[in-house]
Amino acid sequence: MGLVSVKEMLEKARDGKYAVGQFNINNLEWTKSILQTAEEQRSPVILGVSEGAGKYMTGFKTVAAMVKAMLEDLKITVPVALHLDHGTYEGCYKCIEAGFSSIMFDGSHFPIEENIAKTKELVKVCNEKGLSLEAEVGSIGGEEDGVVGMGECANPEECKKIADLGVTILAAGIGNIHGKYPANWPGLRFDVLEQIKKKVGNMPLVLHGGTGIPTDMIKKAISLGVAKINVNTECQLVFQAATRKYIEEGKDLVGKGFDPRKLLAPGAQAIKDIVKEKMEIFGSVGKA
Ligand SMILES: [Zn+2]
Repeated sequence: MGLVSVKEMLEKARDGKYAVGQFNINNLEWTKSILQTAEEQRSPVILGVSEGAGKYMTGFKTVAAMVKAMLEDLKITVPVALHLDHGTYEGCYKCIEAGFSSIMFDGSHFPIEENIAKTKELVKVCNEKGLSLEAEVGSIGGEEDGVVGMGECANPEECKKIADLGVTILAAGIGNIHGKYPANWPGLRFDVLEQIKKKVGNMPLVLHGGTGIPTDMIKKAISLGVAKINVNTECQLVFQAATRKYIEEGKDLVGKGFDPRKLLAPGAQAIKDIVKEKMEIFGSVGKA
């Protein structure tokens, strides 16, 4: 199966009261680990690519070509979307051209009128090409590629304005933040989520900053209409810890332990393990 948009998989998730994970990729090992786990768990999956990660992998064309070829070589049969994460206006067009199946336009830092105008234009382009489009209202806290937000809550009226433009899915800040959560984090604002849900109706909602949100809060958010949950930092942390352990135990100094295929194997396995765990929590196992 080639790449698909997120529309169908997230409508199914919304109706079935589970969520599909978006796992961000950084290189070949990341991509392979996530795709293999999705196939093993019979789960739909969304591969997220930030603009920074796209640049790191030499460009969006390289990313799209790698992912498409990998779907074939690994014989992946579950639905897979390749999604631009927090795209700029220019980045969205680059990814559309490169062959992504889904994009996020993050116009949250623009005044609402400008966010609306640009989102409207992208809705039209995405509809013509069969891509899904995620929009964001209210910046999500923490750091995303150097931009630091404060964990605001989205204005439900503004959410409705953007949802009514015909975007596929909507990301709205409800106190969630990117990266590690501070010890004194007060938790998700379910009251705001409920108000947003009332305004936008049936549209699947997206929860960014999935790393470190307690499982009971994740489950409650899903019950209130969240159908896509973004996980990025957690894969980085487990990869780092497993790689550190391998080197600290001196395994890279034994035999051919320096071989990158051996050196990176524990980190790749750690990503597989955490992705499986997330898919179980989100309820997407066996849904493909
Ligand atoms: Zn995000």
